[in-house]
Amino acid sequence: MQDNKNFDAWDREHLWHPYTSTIDPLPCYKVVSASGCRIRLADGTDLIDGMSSWWAVIHGYNNPAINEAANNQLHKMSHVMFGGLTHEPAIELGKLLLAMAPERMHNIFYADSGSVAVEVAMKMAVQASVSRSGSHAKTNFLTVRSGYHGDTWNAMSVCDPVTGMHGAFGSALPVRFFADAPEIPFDGEWKPEAIQPIESLIRANAGTLAAVILEPIVQGAGGMRFYHPQYLRELRRICDELGIYLIFDEIATGFWRTGRCFACEHAGVTPDIMCIGKGLTAGYMTMSAVLTTKEVADTISRGEAGVMMHGPTFMANPMACAIAIASLRLLNAQDMKCRIAHIETEIKRHIYAAAKLPDVKDVRVLGAIGVIEMNDPVNVGIFQRKCVEHGIWVRPFGRNVYIMPPYIITDEDLQTLITGMIDIISEPLK
Ligand code: PMP
Repeated sequence: MQDNKNFDAWDREHLWHPYTSTIDPLPCYKVVSASGCRIRLADGTDLIDGMSSWWAVIHGYNNPAINEAANNQLHKMSHVMFGGLTHEPAIELGKLLLAMAPERMHNIFYADSGSVAVEVAMKMAVQASVSRSGSHAKTNFLTVRSGYHGDTWNAMSVCDPVTGMHGAFGSALPVRFFADAPEIPFDGEWKPEAIQPIESLIRANAGTLAAVILEPIVQGAGGMRFYHPQYLRELRRICDELGIYLIFDEIATGFWRTGRCFACEHAGVTPDIMCIGKGLTAGYMTMSAVLTTKEVADTISRGEAGVMMHGPTFMANPMACAIAIASLRLLNAQDMKCRIAHIETEIKRHIYAAAKLPDVKDVRVLGAIGVIEMNDPVNVGIFQRKCVEHGIWVRPFGRNVYIMPPYIITDEDLQTLITGMIDIISEPLK
């Protein structure tokens, strides 16, 4: 590896980065600052950000309104325990969230990260299911293949069993039911038989299921797949009939990424339990939330424990709440439907040029997400070195080269980002 300001030997020797080998780590570029849509490396190179730091930095880096909210809150209190105490940022954020969320959402649990939100949602479903049925028979979960829900134990158990972490953890993970991934694309023609495989699996195991859990409309880190809204309407019907809860993981899709405030709005379907995170705090701090109906919340409270059995140290952290309020206010102050529709049009304008490349299998766009699916897995190390040479930041996984830029990106930057990405995949990655 080149020895220059952008690489830190101590970091390489001692710090674990996500999914990284200590023997042969991929290079990690050193960032000194970030502003708007630009990430600045230690050697002064500016990169146009195509990742929103894994879907989170929706308003761009160093946003003045969010900075101000963080500063103001810092001088009031950075943290206070949520057991026996409450505070205005938690209350105000809750009110904002319920006004944005699907109508039946009524109770909010603030959690630490996306993965923890998934753990909390699954615990909610089990507690409510046991309380409702009076037995411990219905405590398992069913999901679809190609899903991703996070890296903690139960979240891993419902990630795709092949591309997820089942291989590494094997029998240590609880065994779940997996239906094939939804096949019909978002704008494809719905076929009634498309729901049959999952419907049969749910019916056959209904007596053991607390909930069905899945990412609505967009399967993110499990394959960047966009599927038909009717799939969710059918799942709602089946779950209602069989007394099974429906959990939507909106952690990646929430806060307008797909062109609707929450992806479930494409289907007009409300889940019983919903996880949100990432864009919630605009990438400033780690926080997530689990929203549920009054029916689920009260059923849990009528159960054996009489309470929701979870309570993290940093629950409803006031700094995170204040930042989230500022982020949601920025969203509410704009016509976001129109803004995301514009980004979608601009992505489409440039990205379809990739479709004619011989190594490209598929190109798809939904909202502020653009995906180029290659025939073969992409060499991430080489790809990222070329990104830095092009002044852009994109991190592929598997066969997918994709962007989900901050919503503040200019048309010009978006064009540079996409054409740079296409230039890189047009040549052999050497
Ligand atoms: N669910 C989904 C759909 C996600 O995309 C992610 C993160 N990529 C998670 C859960 C886990 O979130 P976190 O990394 O904050 O734990």
